[in-house]
Amino acid sequence: MTHREADLRQIANPATLSVINKWTELSKTVVERAIEIVVDHPSRTNIRLGDEDNFAVPAKFRGVPVLGVFVHAYPNIDQYIVSHEIGHWILKLQGFSSIISKPRNFRPEALLNSLASHPPLYELLVTFGHNPQIEIDSRTDHNIGLVSQLRERLEDPKNSALYLADDVLNCSSEKRVQLESKLQVHRPEIMSLLQKIISIRSSYDLSHRKSNMAFRKHLVSELNLGGEWDEHDDIKEALNDSWA
Ligand SMILES: [Zn+2]
Repeated sequence: MTHREADLRQIANPATLSVINKWTELSKTVVERAIEIVVDHPSRTNIRLGDEDNFAVPAKFRGVPVLGVFVHAYPNIDQYIVSHEIGHWILKLQGFSSIISKPRNFRPEALLNSLASHPPLYELLVTFGHNPQIEIDSRTDHNIGLVSQLRERLEDPKNSALYLADDVLNCSSEKRVQLESKLQVHRPEIMSLLQKIISIRSSYDLSHRKSNMAFRKHLVSELNLGGEWDEHDDIKEALNDSWA
């Protein structure tokens, strides 16, 4: 059974409710109608975003355009996760584009776009009363434990560096020291790519959409990700497709 927006509003805490209200207000302005939010399990859609457990995508529900939020723990609804996924789409309504490659290469695309959009997303979630630091640090803790197994678990060192940069750029300084020293010992080649990413990040203001896109493009060339990469407007795509 899908959670419609009315059901979600019933159970939402004040922070999540503010996120939903912001989404409604912005969608009315930008796409000229309130796009309903529905929450469901990923098995209820055939869309997959890399190997993301939770994601949000434009969809149709009973013929009506919606933003579908798919969470793997459904019917258990974690308020922070729902807000996080809606927040990604608030940024898109605010003009943040994605970057995609031709031919499509979903894993580095997802890693790069997450890495660049998380800093402004976390800022946004804090303004609504969420505390993303708890989730960020717990993900970092999990990854600190995995570093010694990265060889088996993670593919290309570039992908691993993009994945772990997402932790390093957002976690508390104490966690950062732990993660970096473990990487230095077990995976020095990932550590040197990570240092490159961190130093590039310091030249950009990720809360501004143009600077944010320039950061993504700089990483594509610096890490030599291959293929042709271009800006992609997910809202425009939705209006031509799921929301048409
Ligand atoms: Zn995210």
